[in-house]
Amino acid sequence: MKTLIRAAIAALGAVLLSAVPARAQLNVVTTTPDLGSIAQEVGGDKVKVTSLAKGYQDPHFVEAKPSFVLLLNKAELLVAIGRDLEIAWLPPLVTQSRNAKIQPGANGYLDASQNVKILDLPTGAITRAMGDVHPSGNPHYWLDPENGGRIARSIEGKLSQLDPANAAYYKGRAADFERRLAEAQKRWKAMMAPYKGVKVITYHRSWTNFADAFGLDVIGFVEPKPGIPPTPQHTLDVINAMKAQNIKIIMVEPYFDTKTPNSIASKSGAKVLIMPPSVGGVPEAADFFKLFDYDVNLLVEAIKSTGAK
Ligand SMILES: [Zn+2]
Repeated sequence: MKTLIRAAIAALGAVLLSAVPARAQLNVVTTTPDLGSIAQEVGGDKVKVTSLAKGYQDPHFVEAKPSFVLLLNKAELLVAIGRDLEIAWLPPLVTQSRNAKIQPGANGYLDASQNVKILDLPTGAITRAMGDVHPSGNPHYWLDPENGGRIARSIEGKLSQLDPANAAYYKGRAADFERRLAEAQKRWKAMMAPYKGVKVITYHRSWTNFADAFGLDVIGFVEPKPGIPPTPQHTLDVINAMKAQNIKIIMVEPYFDTKTPNSIASKSGAKVLIMPPSVGGVPEAADFFKLFDYDVNLLVEAIKSTGAK
């Protein structure tokens, strides 16, 4: 009988041991799907990544859902774009999450803008006066693939800090991501090389880093200022500038009304291009690589078909 009991205890012990998971996946929440795609690249199967915003939403003005608070409550790491991109919606959610780990300044909060190249830095006093939603430099910096690599390294550092047992794993994955990104970037730059200096108009100031990376010349915006809707006078100025400089392309983010861009296009003879600035902005832009594949292809085809210079 004693032997039987001992055997039963041993068997129970084995069952209990096998039921203990290695380590649960690290729970990562990102504000945008671009950060989500990069976090997944670096974290592999050691992380569970959820993005709050969808790629077809304006990342400045995301509708806060109650489910976001629950997600943030359970997060071990929150990765944000920073530079005030999420200032209109994220801070109250982080407070409501009552999760000390992910409050700004805590170990589980990562501002991904710390080591990237930031453009449009303000020269005067920093202000959101007149509704300018880019008071701390251009927050759409992920649209330069090189910044994608820099974001990956920041995420790698943070994941290694939170989960040191897997530091080598994260390091290897970040290096592999950067290698594949460098290869893809060569391909994208080669596709764009014949069109260096092509002049375009964009709706919002989303494409500053993209234009910097691929040699576009953005000469104006449908918005008079970032975050300010078009006015009749500004629209007229844009049409005149486009006619004077023979500009053929208006790049519009999928979440803006196309009424004004279409009207500008019909008066200037240009083409409206709906270009997603984020992963998931269109179904084809399913990850960080496919986003650039989609946008570069779309742009090259438009330049060819319009004869833009
Ligand atoms: Zn913006």
